[in-house]
Amino acid sequence: MAAPTLGGSLALFSFRGIKVHVHWTFLLLVAWVVFSVSKGGGGPREIAVQLAMLAVVFGCVVLHEYGHALTALHYHVRTRDITLLPIGGMASLERMPEDPLQELWITVAGPAVNLVIAAIAAVALNMLYGFHLLDPMGPGPLPARALTLLFAFNIGLFLFNLLPAFPMDGGRILRALLSMRMPRTQATRIAASVGRMMAIGLLFAGLFFGEPFLALIGVFVLIGAGAELRAARERAALTGVTVRQMMRTSYWAMEGHSSVQQAVDALLAGGDHDLVVLSDGRYRGILTRKRLIEALSADRGGSRLDEIPLLEARPVPPDAPARSAFANAMAQRWPLLPVQAPDGELLGVVDAENYAEFIMVQQAREAGRTRHTD
Ligand SMILES: [Zn+2]
Repeated sequence: MAAPTLGGSLALFSFRGIKVHVHWTFLLLVAWVVFSVSKGGGGPREIAVQLAMLAVVFGCVVLHEYGHALTALHYHVRTRDITLLPIGGMASLERMPEDPLQELWITVAGPAVNLVIAAIAAVALNMLYGFHLLDPMGPGPLPARALTLLFAFNIGLFLFNLLPAFPMDGGRILRALLSMRMPRTQATRIAASVGRMMAIGLLFAGLFFGEPFLALIGVFVLIGAGAELRAARERAALTGVTVRQMMRTSYWAMEGHSSVQQAVDALLAGGDHDLVVLSDGRYRGILTRKRLIEALSADRGGSRLDEIPLLEARPVPPDAPARSAFANAMAQRWPLLPVQAPDGELLGVVDAENYAEFIMVQQAREAGRTRHTD
């Protein structure tokens, strides 16, 4: 399944067709910096220096994400966008190549960018001041402190990202290396369990040493391992499956000349949330429960269904691959994916529930088969 789309982001700029967004929660980080500097007795100058350092640090994060995105572009994989969150950056690739070697290069490119920045900072620091690492917040010439910050931060980011745990790059690198020797699902399973063990270690270390940030990373890794595992199982269960195999053929449909009131009555009588509106038996569009209720509250109970703005979910042919067709429907926020025969006849629909049920059934069959052959 595609990466979750985060709401509430502000577009900063775009390079090579890849937009960089900053998530609104980032403002909390800025506010926290301002607050903690002024609480420590710092004036506007200190606040400006700290915010400049924050900008430098996140500039490095953006370059790291571009490392992934531009390498992906080299393999003709597009990146929807790069989002900056207070905990780091996220490049939303449209897909990850199945070829483990390509996945490996795309993943390695991010940390490699940080290693290059750290090397440049170290060389510059050495040439200008001799290689003395300074406290970036302490006394000393500002350029030397800035170069130290660049060096230390990028080394830190490099090492942190190499932790062999999803959602860090190290988890993907481990999976890609394992995938060269075994099926991808098995490789993901091993990489995810390594990540889980690390997450539990981080969680305990964080609690034991009173480092909430470590514990928080542990939680993220636990969630990340679970998500990767689910995605890999889903991919395995749906390989070669078409929408025809998955669709349900019983769904709630009404002709466009029916009234909103009739649809509301049918909704209350039970059944589906979302209504397929037909015109002479042909698919026209989807009327979601939300729009139906809105029409009712706008006092349009007497209106015909085809007078209400319908959601124009594009139908797919029955032989479309289920996984990518459904991922697209989710990305477009369609509650139903209509399946239509070439002659225009509506054959069925796929929704999130029967998608999940199909995967459950496939996995149960798979488990049954392996037990029988043991
Ligand atoms: Zn990365």
